Amino acid sequence: MRCPFCANDNDGVRDSRIVEDGRAIRRRRFCNHCKRRFTTYERVEGLLQVRKRDGTCQDFSRAKIERGLSAACWKRKIKQEEIQRLAIEIESHILDNYEREVGSEDVGNLCMQYLRDLDEVAFVRFASVYRSFRDAQDFVKELTPILSPNDPRNSR
Ligand SMILES: [Zn+2]
Repeated sequence: MRCPFCANDNDGVRDSRIVEDGRAIRRRRFCNHCKRRFTTYERVEGLLQVRKRDGTCQDFSRAKIERGLSAACWKRKIKQEEIQRLAIEIESHILDNYEREVGSEDVGNLCMQYLRDLDEVAFVRFASVYRSFRDAQDFVKELTPILSPNDPRNSR
């Protein structure tokens, strides 16, 4: 760590402790060149929170997304690597667009968007689990053109 006083990169850590409820580590440092002391804080990056509908938050987890996608792709001929790749794309999209918090609804919608391009059956499965019967009307509207692409009523 570069010394803020003399800009030398030659320091020693004297004391480290976890602060802010485990979210940061404070280190007291000592510059071996100018002998002054300074303090640094290290924070864990990427601890994005997912806010659920009931208002509670939990750490964002790509593994959880991958599990959801895997369940939707059950018995479909989709390679696990493909599901992993999708989960990574979803994760990087989320990290690029949300700084501290993302709604679980946004995560679910994003998964649906990506799944739709991958596999229709998996998409329908995911959507039915994710959306349940909360907004059945929208759900039907969304599925109709996918399930019956040749239906003239859908060629508006
Ligand atoms: Zn110094």
